[in-house]
Amino acid sequence: MTKNQEILQLAEKYGFDECEVISAEPFLQYKKDFEKSSYAEDSDITYDPKAYKKDADKIVVLLKAYNPYDESYFTSDHIYVDAYYVAGNECYFSAKNMAEEISGWRYAAYASPRISFRHCAYRAGMGKRGMSALLINEKYGSYVHIQCLLTNAPLDITKNIENTEICDDCESCTLSCKGGAMQGNGFVDINKCVRHYMPAKRYVPEHIRKMVGSSFIGCTDCRVACPHNLKIAKVKPPQDLLDACYIPVLADSEHENYKKSFNTLRNYIGTNEIKKMKLIKSVVIVIGNTKDKKYLKILDKLKSRNDDKDLLEYIHWAENEILKAAI
Ligand code: SF4
Ligand code: SF4
Repeated sequence: MTKNQEILQLAEKYGFDECEVISAEPFLQYKKDFEKSSYAEDSDITYDPKAYKKDADKIVVLLKAYNPYDESYFTSDHIYVDAYYVAGNECYFSAKNMAEEISGWRYAAYASPRISFRHCAYRAGMGKRGMSALLINEKYGSYVHIQCLLTNAPLDITKNIENTEICDDCESCTLSCKGGAMQGNGFVDINKCVRHYMPAKRYVPEHIRKMVGSSFIGCTDCRVACPHNLKIAKVKPPQDLLDACYIPVLADSEHENYKKSFNTLRNYIGTNEIKKMKLIKSVVIVIGNTKDKKYLKILDKLKSRNDDKDLLEYIHWAENEILKAAI
């Protein structure tokens, strides 16, 4: 069996749907994009994989398709968690395990390198670039998650194209964005995009809070609007995840089920996204959008227990949203 076949087998074992090997030469298009627009949120992502790891000359690009959750299972008393982030967390650990197995073959292998996964997928021919800046895969639409491994394993390159085509099949994604974040040229102004803020990882301005709806993390509007996704079936979210999204428990850290819900969310979405303060701030923003006066008592309790300036501002805003709706 060749090393490429072994890698394919590993990718399959860890649940990936597509796997290609590309060269680790610099991503000049990414560099140009980054200079032109701030669409890449993390400035520590390098366009040159060798600057990240000198000893790696290939990139194994892995793609996992997922089915979006049927939102109707999330009631108005639930925060909404998008399946993308659950798939992302799974992919992170799968890629980590794959890298460990490759290291066991005595080659360097680095999972989740700080390079642009999307540009790796374009080079791997896994799809075109959407107007929404999402990868559009022919089979799975944009319901995909990408992971990468940098390695020096003796692999043949299976694809290496420079695909800069931008999908302009329609305007649905651009029109769906409430924040006007899409610039109409394949770039997203991250300062106008909900994902830049949620789950409350930085100060969330009032106009963004209103755009959040019930979504705990990110925003699904441009993905849902894309006709390439119409054929992908929605599925019921796992019951324990749904249970963990119940607002009255998440808003009360003294509730007997709080710890269980917190840990379940961590298991599904990862420890980076689920931190106590981020969680409660996000839950309060969602409460404001429910406009349900039954939450006033909970907000009152939260006010007396916290002194974080931003959280207190969100509580005050949520109370006002509820009271305004009650008039
Ligand atoms: S994720 Fe939401 S806010 Fe961000 S660009 Fe897409 S539609 Fe706009
Ligand atoms: S919504 Fe339309 S323009 Fe946007 S990525 Fe999908 S097909 Fe392309």
